Amino acid sequence: MKSHSSEVGVFVRIRPTANFSQDLIECLPDGQTVNIHYRKTSRKPQDTRRGLSSRSFRLEGILQDVSQEELYGRVCRQVVLGALDGYNGTVMCFGQTGAGKTYTMTGSTESYKQRGIIPRALQEVFQELEKRTEHAFSVHLSYLEIYNETLVDLLSSLQGSPHPSPHGMVVMEEPGRGVFVRGLSLHPVHCEDEALNLLFEGEMNRIIGSHALNRSSSRSHCIFTVHIESRSRTLSNAKYLTSKLNLVDLAGSERLKKTGSEGQMFKEAMYINKSLSFLEQAILALADRRRDHIPFRQTKLTHALKDSLGGNCNTVLVANIYGEAAQIEETLSTLRFASRMKCVQTNLSVNEHIDPAAQIKKLQKDVQRLKEELSLYNTSVERPSITYEPLSEAQLAEIHSQVQRYLEGSLEEISIISIRQIQAVFAQFKLAVQEQEQKVKAQLCQTYNLVEKDQGAHTASVKEWDTRGSSEDVEARSLEVSPHSPKNTQRPSSTKAKTKKSRDKQSSTPSKAETFEDFKMGQGREINCILKENKAVLLERRSLLRQLTEEVNAVKREIDCTTAAIQQHMDMRGGQGQYFVMDGESMLQEQDATTLIRLRKLKALYRQRYEVLRDIKAEVNYCQHLVDQCRVRLFSEFENWYKKSFQSTEEQDIMDTTHEQGEDNQSVEQLPYELLPEGCSSESFYNARYRTLGMRNSRVPSFTPAQRKSSSGSGQRRLPPILPVS
Ligand code: ADP
Ligand code: MG
Repeated sequence: MKSHSSEVGVFVRIRPTANFSQDLIECLPDGQTVNIHYRKTSRKPQDTRRGLSSRSFRLEGILQDVSQEELYGRVCRQVVLGALDGYNGTVMCFGQTGAGKTYTMTGSTESYKQRGIIPRALQEVFQELEKRTEHAFSVHLSYLEIYNETLVDLLSSLQGSPHPSPHGMVVMEEPGRGVFVRGLSLHPVHCEDEALNLLFEGEMNRIIGSHALNRSSSRSHCIFTVHIESRSRTLSNAKYLTSKLNLVDLAGSERLKKTGSEGQMFKEAMYINKSLSFLEQAILALADRRRDHIPFRQTKLTHALKDSLGGNCNTVLVANIYGEAAQIEETLSTLRFASRMKCVQTNLSVNEHIDPAAQIKKLQKDVQRLKEELSLYNTSVERPSITYEPLSEAQLAEIHSQVQRYLEGSLEEISIISIRQIQAVFAQFKLAVQEQEQKVKAQLCQTYNLVEKDQGAHTASVKEWDTRGSSEDVEARSLEVSPHSPKNTQRPSSTKAKTKKSRDKQSSTPSKAETFEDFKMGQGREINCILKENKAVLLERRSLLRQLTEEVNAVKREIDCTTAAIQQHMDMRGGQGQYFVMDGESMLQEQDATTLIRLRKLKALYRQRYEVLRDIKAEVNYCQHLVDQCRVRLFSEFENWYKKSFQSTEEQDIMDTTHEQGEDNQSVEQLPYELLPEGCSSESFYNARYRTLGMRNSRVPSFTPAQRKSSSGSGQRRLPPILPVS
């Protein structure tokens, strides 16, 4: 985007007069400097230069006795051409009433030669448009008058103008659009004639309005705006340029005290003073680069001109002055304003926009062109079949078939053709995985009668199942068993029949004993370890208990023998029951005494060992209790896990059976070991199982059939009874 900085262009135009005060207004030959000589308090302008103050003003050009044509060429042409290139432009006339502002801006409406900046600018615009054929331009005009802080649309009388807003016109600002007047009519024009018609119409309305309101046209500010939009005819991009060319004829800048006005005139002068002094303040602020805030919103004029005074605007000021000594104070004041305006910086940039609709069109075109280029490339590398349109039904079906064959193994690889095809292949893979997942789920449900009440639990069971074996395992198991509905199975009444049914069902569900073994290695590993440790301690204590019991019983047997020997001896003595020490029998008596002492010692030993035995027995009981507890926990955890994994009504059947058995505990006690469903390997499982069921029924845990069997083995042999001692 083109951008450049410069200062506001300021020119002075001196109204032609026969009484030009050469003494007070000195135009230097450089054509840019004007020296004003003045007496501060002097009321006699005819005084000579002696005792006068001087002020020198250097501006871009001092225009004295220049034709309208020359003025336009020097002041306005570049601004108009800039507007056609997309830069905002403002040409503004400032000065006291009668100094020639309207003459400069509009010129004579009777004389073509004396036409002013506006008609010349319009002519230039349309002449340029004819030359710039590579762009399509659209031109709109608006004509705004600001009188006593009221906004007036000078073109509202024209056909096609919007109805005046009930809220009146408002100066607004929008990002990307800048400052604009809401409610002000914008009129499209296609040629110079149309544009001039609007200008004259506006001028007429301005005069009519001033007559109707009994005021001078010099009491209002007028902003004639040419709105230009251009789009390239050659580049098919979405960019377009906009610009505003403001041609401003300000109200007379004369001071209030000088006019000596009253009533309406006073009010007008007050408003004019207010707006112009705020214009001056805005200019001062703009000229001071340290200032952040510019008081644009103080008046309608400054607000409306906010983006037309310097900044992103090619701004030119024409300071209209009288050449006469009588107006020297106003001339000085006008030139002061002009010199301040000269300090304002402009920072121009083209107003470039992007049309979203055109952008879409352009991108669509780009896509189409790239597709064509791609297919050209594909043809050159002998891949002519590729298109870049969405895939057809037939193509999708072919991709589906390819993926299926690839998964089955009959297709070794899928050749990559295009991004679209790769995406479709992935989509097919995803679909295949989802289908497979559903299939496995359905198979598991059917095979193991899994109830899908709780989807989460169901998923968990599948996971559990998967973790314990490969998919081949699952299939092998599913092949082993035949699906059936246990609900329809008749329940045999006898225990034997129930056990047989249980055996039958074992063939249709994963063996509990087998899964129990797996459980002990997996989820139940920790509790199983504790159980094993407790069992080991229990075994060790039991063995000690057995040893002690044997010891105690041995002592007991010795006591019995000794007692029997003493008794026998007494019987031999005639059943007196007493020991007597007689002559000739001292040796026997001595022997009796020794036996007696020995008996006492034995009894003491018995009591001592018995106490140790009692402690050990308590320890054994405690260990047994721990082992039982661990076993119960192990089994209940297994139960939960099994239920989650292999929920089936078969379990209920076993429960029922057990409850029935529980009612007659004898039957549990007497269940023959041979009826264990899986033989020896199921011992641990059934031990735990029956113990738990026993606990659940609030019965004292009893020895299970498996224990009963194993008690005769090496591990947990039944302890011998401890012999009582009186
Ligand atoms: P303003 O708008 O500043 O109040 P005008 O433009 O109405 O002043 O000028 C007042 C009168 O002076 C008009 O009759 C106008 O034709 C005349 N006049 C002003 N400047 C010139 C000029 N440069 N050449 C010829 N006539 C001029
Ligand atoms: Mg005027």
